[in-house]
Amino acid sequence: MRTRQLWVVVLCGWLSACVPVQESRNALNADPDLSNNLLYALAWKQTAAEYEALYYQGFNMARLHLMQALDDADRTGRPLAVISDLDDTLLMARDYWGHLVETDHDFFDDARWDRWVTEAQAIASPGALEFLEFCVENGVEVFYVTNRDQGDKTFDLVLNSLQTLGFPYADADHLTVLRESSNKEPAQNLIREKYEVVVMLGDNLNDFSRQFYLTDVAARLAVVEGEKNRFGAEFILFPNPTDGHWLRAIFGESEPAPTAANRQIMRKAAMHRTWQPES
Ligand SMILES: [Mg+2]
Repeated sequence: MRTRQLWVVVLCGWLSACVPVQESRNALNADPDLSNNLLYALAWKQTAAEYEALYYQGFNMARLHLMQALDDADRTGRPLAVISDLDDTLLMARDYWGHLVETDHDFFDDARWDRWVTEAQAIASPGALEFLEFCVENGVEVFYVTNRDQGDKTFDLVLNSLQTLGFPYADADHLTVLRESSNKEPAQNLIREKYEVVVMLGDNLNDFSRQFYLTDVAARLAVVEGEKNRFGAEFILFPNPTDGHWLRAIFGESEPAPTAANRQIMRKAAMHRTWQPES
């Protein structure tokens, strides 16, 4: 029996080796999975050790900045605080994105996201729990501000996730859910009235300041240049190549529809800088 199976394997291998190269390429191009917009970004998110390391790096920088603030004798006297975004900052949803690719979706899918939030359990990002524990040990309060919107149940769903994961300060005083607006500044300013906010964590520039909320690619780059000294200090930015306002700058909306026209726009964005060979 084993010998027969071995011959079948050898025969299949020989036959596949005889398929003309051009025919193989055509087969690849015809498979929608292999032309999915998300593939490179998501393969990186799912497998790259560098991606995980960037989270450790971010939390290490946040911890360092907090330690400097704790040692600062000239502090305002107000208690210290951290303000953090949730998705792609403290929480990961890589299985949601994996599901999109598996089901041949190449753009964010709002209906599936809502189902994922309801059914699935987010996991903590690498180093998140350790950093939050460091905050607790040093009496630094953490405030969570998110733009999630799954209707009236959103707040309870988010709170349940935070409590299940063992996040500290998972209560109504420390969680703000902004369903109606992406503008986090009013909520952040309220926190600043009572606390000295030393560190802000996010994967989207809008998590730090509304001044970054621009729909023009060049304008966003220019504002970042102007604020460059704040990154790695009070602004700790985590990587997110699959979603965020960088897409809004390309498409004019954060969740573009999966249309042929939008795929062309994505292609054009990928050629934002393009080498023109002289020969
Ligand atoms: Mg986020």
